[in-house]
Order: sequence, then structure tokens, then C-alpha cells
Amino acid sequence: MIFSNIRAIFLGEVDIPASQRDAVSAARRKAFHSLAPLAAIHSLLNAVVLTFAFWNNTAMPLVFVWCYTSAVLVFLRIRDSRAPEVHVDAKTADDRIIRYTLLSGAAWGLIIAMLIASSGSEHDLLLGLFTAAILCVGALLHSSFPLASLGYSLLVGAGACLGMIIGNHAWSINAMLLISATVMALQRFAATNHATDVNRQLANAATQEATETMSLLLQDFEAHSADWLWRVDAEGRLTRPSQRFVDATGLPIETLEGGNILALFAQESAIHLDTLLKQRKPFHDQVLRVAISGRDAWWTLSGQPTSDGGWRGVCSDITRSRDAEARIAYITEFDGLTDLPNRAMLVRQLEIAQADAECGGEGFALFVVDLDNFKTINDTQGHPAGDAYLKVVADRLRDSIGPQAFLARLGGDEFAILKSDVIADEALDLADLIVDALLAPVFLNGKEILAGGSVGVAVAPGNGADPADLMRNAELALYRAKAQGRGCARFFEPGMEEDARVRADLETDLRAALANEAMDVYFQPLVDTRTHKVSGYETLLRWNRPGHGLVSPALFISCAEETGIIVPLGEWVIRKAIEEAAQWKDDVGVAINLSPAQMKNPSLVATIVGALAASQLAPSRLEIEIVESVLMDETEHNIRTLHALRELGVKIALDDFGTGYSSLSYLRAFPFDKIKIDQRFVRDIDSSHENRAIVRAVISLARDLGMRVTAEGVENEQQAAILASLGCTEVQGFLYSRPMPASEVDKKEGAAAHPPTKVRPLRRHASA
Ligand code: C2E
Ligand code: MG
Ligand code: MG
Repeated sequence: MIFSNIRAIFLGEVDIPASQRDAVSAARRKAFHSLAPLAAIHSLLNAVVLTFAFWNNTAMPLVFVWCYTSAVLVFLRIRDSRAPEVHVDAKTADDRIIRYTLLSGAAWGLIIAMLIASSGSEHDLLLGLFTAAILCVGALLHSSFPLASLGYSLLVGAGACLGMIIGNHAWSINAMLLISATVMALQRFAATNHATDVNRQLANAATQEATETMSLLLQDFEAHSADWLWRVDAEGRLTRPSQRFVDATGLPIETLEGGNILALFAQESAIHLDTLLKQRKPFHDQVLRVAISGRDAWWTLSGQPTSDGGWRGVCSDITRSRDAEARIAYITEFDGLTDLPNRAMLVRQLEIAQADAECGGEGFALFVVDLDNFKTINDTQGHPAGDAYLKVVADRLRDSIGPQAFLARLGGDEFAILKSDVIADEALDLADLIVDALLAPVFLNGKEILAGGSVGVAVAPGNGADPADLMRNAELALYRAKAQGRGCARFFEPGMEEDARVRADLETDLRAALANEAMDVYFQPLVDTRTHKVSGYETLLRWNRPGHGLVSPALFISCAEETGIIVPLGEWVIRKAIEEAAQWKDDVGVAINLSPAQMKNPSLVATIVGALAASQLAPSRLEIEIVESVLMDETEHNIRTLHALRELGVKIALDDFGTGYSSLSYLRAFPFDKIKIDQRFVRDIDSSHENRAIVRAVISLARDLGMRVTAEGVENEQQAAILASLGCTEVQGFLYSRPMPASEVDKKEGAAAHPPTKVRPLRRHASA
């Protein structure tokens, strides 16, 4: 342990990995040889000084001898330093240096011993300095070989001590102590110097290895990654561009190599990159636009300044992801079908318009447009035709509103227009323009399509404090336009808010009524015109709404349909009506009205089957009444459902016939069991020839198609007599009975006969 510490202190020994030993030893020899010229000059100077100092002295021959010896050694040393070490192993080469150094030390020690022993006190100072110089310079020149340096110092020191002992100098003891201390100090210096050199060399070797590893990793990165490396010199010129880089640019390597990297980028990106390069600070993921002819690309660049003033870094092509991002950004702001801004953009635009208005600008108007019957177009013509129609509508709106207005698609068949700096009259004109533009027929695939649209208008600042208010009020106005027959424009009025509130209350009460089963099913008889007997009853829903009394479905069914309440409500009616009908005579049927929303419900058939099974009612006693719009919406699905019901044995009637758009075509769409002629044709059948003609035609058509006909709304005997004469098979109306509660249906005797002349007393159910 102590021994190894001493070796470490005086020989500067360092643990050198086996892999580095040869390199370290070669490096120390190189360092040693590099000082050969300095050693030669030093020896020469020593020789010159000594020659002059001892010219007339008896020691002069010795000086000459030493000069020759020294010259030989210097020659040997310089030769050694030049000779290539090709055939010499490291140990032999090191040993040669150590031998030479020891020889050199012995030569210096000898001459110093002889000069000190033989010279008088006049040379004390010179010899003292000389000895010190030889020791110091020797330690310096041989520090890369501490063992050699130690031998050299000891030999020189010993020579000096020997000379003093022989010459019997008075200061010998002190000088010897001084020399010993100097030798130790110098040796420690040589050892430290050597250890530092070796450690530095090992560190360099480690760095070199790390660099090589890194370089291998980088090569691997270039070979397998989508990114590539870039390098530029201090002037920004590309150096050794990789194949991947060449591929990414599409330029020949000769053009790329030596070319300025900035030339690859569009002006703004080049300026940005130039600034980054000049700052000489690492940068990351800088998005730059590439400007190589024929390429529209985006790269991200990361870079690290290098010690030679250049840069190196990684580059990746982000064109695709950027395109995708742009696409996503587009989708979040625009509608992909019509390329119009979407709802989010409209809201932003409304906020801007509002801010302008608050800063003293004119008011602005918001138009909400909804296409009438778009759903029918979609269903009957197919979705591609529906899309094409929407595009035509978008173009028409764009043309009619002019460049100053902002047009957006809110989704589905709803559009919105924002017109700034507008006064009420102008808004009115624009609303009419929009309605007219949508009224004109559209030709798609050779077919003429008539749809039209309704418009709701809200004008700021009067009709809304913020975009949401304005939007809601424009929607309320649109709702009114639709309720008033469609194909028109309505401006928002404060009363509409009240209507909306009333409607919201209705919805709340309706939900509560459903939850509490606070509703009733009433029944209105259907009378056979030949037998004058009741053949069945139509189920009509009644609601005793708290604070409002008995309410007819005409008032609340639309609300139930819009809110979806109709589905559970309708299921309740089905169960209730069938349950009641099961208690009637076997030849009395029950009719139940189904709205379009119920038809769409996939569990409808299961509900009916369940109710029939639970009440043991024969399916043939059940009749389902649907209106024409059932055949306009979701046509295929609804017709399938109707067929499924028919297969059960349930009868299907077409209600309110004559009120739809193209009634006759629906008679072909499904083989109905019955047609119910709407009461508007019956109402003035006695006075209107036209209505009578229509009813006659319908009855004859139904007969041809094998369907029964029921006339609704028969209120007097004259109407009944005419209908009977026209061949109508069944009648229904206040003449026979108003709808009545289940408790009043004659159950024991079944259907009571009510000939037209015997009108049932009505007073008790006047409100039904
Ligand atoms: P609807 O199916 O056409 O029913 C006939 C309507 O005419 C009933 O109105 C009935 O009270 C009324 N009515 C019957 N005879 C006369 C008459 O002589 N003169 C006049 N002026 N009216 C007469 P109500 O009960 O108000 O029902 C209106 C509509 O609500 C029904 O028309 C039907 O479409 C619907 N509805 C009724 N109950 C239900 C139901 O449970 N479910 C569904 N989905 N709709 C229902
Ligand atoms: Mg009906
Ligand atoms: Mg009807």
C-alpha cells in the first residue's frame, strides 16, 4: 500500500486500461522526442558555458571529454526521435529511452562530480547554478518518463554530492541536503506532470470513443429514421449532406454540397434561420417553409453550434402532418360539403360585429335559413342528391346576399347569414331575396326539385344582447316562419320569447303527466253506414292539464313529437287502448293513431305485440292510423314496419287523406286497409261541389284498390246522407258521438247501433 502510494507520488503511475496502454506509451515517447531539439540546444549551451568557464582550468580536458559524450548522446537522442518505431514494440522503445536518459544522467553526474571535485571556490556559484539547471531542465525534459527522470536526477544529484565529498567543500552537507530536496521536488513535479498527461490522454481517448459511438449512432439514425442530419460550416455552407438529405431536397448532391443552407428555404423562413444561426445558440423544432422549385414542403430544423463555428442538427419533413393540421383547422372552421364557414366561425363573426356595433357602428342582422322538406329530398332522391342540393342552395345564397354579407352553414339544412351595417328595411328586402332564391326550382339528375326555405331574422342590437341571444331569437323567428306555413321569412318579435316559454312549460307539464300517468284515452265511435252499427272506436288522447282543463292532442302532440315524449306516451296509449278494447264485444275494433316519430322507434312492433298478448286482443281488431308524412320520412324503414304489423293481422289506415302533398302516390306505396277522408272535405260537402267530387273520386279509387273509406268529422245528417249516397262505408263525427271516456263505451252490449237520425246526447262530453 505504502509502496504503491510512493510509486504514485514519485512515479505518477496511473491505471491505464489495457486497450489504451500502447497509445499512452506512444504518446509519452512522442512527447519525449518532441523535446529532443530543446535538449540538444540545452546541452550545447552548457558545453559552451563550461568551455568558457574552464578554458584555462585544469578541468578543461574533462570538459572536452564530456562535450564529446554529450554530443554523442544528443545525436543518439535526435536520431531516436526521428527513427520510426515500426519494428519496435512499446516496451523496447520505452526501455531505450530510459537507458538513454540514465546514460545522459550518468554523463551529467560524472562531469558535475569531476568539475566540483576539481574546481576552486571561484566556480562554486557557476557549478551550483549549473547543477540546479541540469536538474531542473532534466526533470522537465524527461517528465513523460518519471522513472527515467528519477534515475537522471539521482545520477546528477549523486554526481554533485560525490564531487563535493571528493573536493571536500565546506558547504557540502547543506548543499547535499538542498540537492536531495530539489531532486525530490523535481521528481514529484515530473510525476504529477506525467499523471496529468496520462489522465488527459485517457480522457481524450474516452471522448474520441464517445464521438465514434455517436457517429455510429448518427449513421444508424440516418439509415433508419425518417429524419436526416444536416451540417454546415461557419459560412452556412452544407457539408457532406447525407443521402437522405439529398433525397429530401430532390437536388443533385453536387448542387447541395457547398451550397448555402438558407437557399433551401422561402424568404421568411430563410431570414428566421439566418437569425438563429447568427445567435449561435442551440435551437429546436423550428418550422421552416422549403422553397425548392417544384416542392411545397415544410421542415422542422433543430441545430447545435459546433466548435469549428459551424452547425449540425436534425431535420424532418412535416409536410404531411402540417397538411393534416391545416385540414383539421379547416374542418373546425369550415363546412366540408359547401366550403362555407361553420357555426363556430359564425359565432366569432357575430362577436366581431357586436363589438363593432358597440363602438358606434350600425346594427346588424342575423338570418337563419332552414330548408323546407330537405329531408324528403334526401330520402326520396338519395343522399348524393341531397348533398348536391345543399351545394346549389349554398351557391344561391352566396349570390343573393352579395359579398358584404357573411354566409355560414350551421349544419344539416340550416344556414345563417350575417349582414352588418343594415337597417330594418334592408334586412326585410334581404330576407325576401333569400326566400325567393330558395323558391326557384333546382334541377338535379334531370329531375326538378322544389323545396324552398323558411327564414328567421333577428336584428342587433335590439333583438339580442350577445351572439347566443341573437341566435336563439333568430331561431324563434324561424320557428314561427315554419309554423306559419314555411317558404316565408319572419322577424323576431318579443312575443316569441313568451311563446317559447309557454312551450317550455308545456313540455315540463307533459313530462310530469306522462310520469304520473295523468292522461286519459277517449274513444270516438266509427259507424258502419250500412248496418248503422259501431264497428270500432278511434282512440284519442286527452290530458287534464292542471290549470288548463281537458286539453286536446291537437295542442300538445306536436310538442310531444318534437321533444321525443311521443314515444313513451304513444306506448302508454297503445297499452291502454288495447287493454280497454279487450273488454269490448269481439266484433268491435280499436283504432290507434301513430305519429311519424313513433314509427321510427325500433321497438314499436314489439310494444304492439306485447300489448296484444297481454290483453289477449285479436290483432285483427286493432287498426293503426298513420298520416302521409309517415311515408315521406324514413320511407323504407316505415314501410317495412307497416308490413310487419300487417303480417301480425293488424289493419293499417291512412288518416287525414287529402291534406298531404301527393296523396295518390302514397296509396301505391302501401296497400292500406282503409282511407280516412279528412274532415275538411266533409265539412262543406253539402255546399261544395268540388269537395263532393273529390270525396266521390276518393271513394271510387278506394273501392278499386279494395280499401274501405271512413269519412271524418261528420256533424250533421245531411253530410251523413250524402256520404252514404256516395258509397262511403264508414263515418265518424260529432253527429254520432264526441270522443268519450273508456267508462262510457258500451261494453256489455258491445257496439251500440246509432243510426244517423238518432244522434247521441253530447252535452256530457262537449269539451272532448
Ligand atoms: P285524427 O286522428 O284525425 O282524429 C280525429 C280528430 O277529429 C279528433 O281530434 C276528433 O276529436 C276530431 N273530431 C271527431 N269528430 C269530429 C267532428 O265531427 N267535428 C270536428 N270538428 N272534429 C271532430 P282530436 O282528438 O283533437 O285529435 C287531433 C289529432 O291528434 C288526431 O287527429 C290525431 O292525429 C292526433 N291524436 C289524437 N290522439 C292521438 C294519440 O294517441 N297518438 C297520436 N300519435 N296522435 C293522436
Ligand atoms: Mg286519427
Ligand atoms: Mg284524421
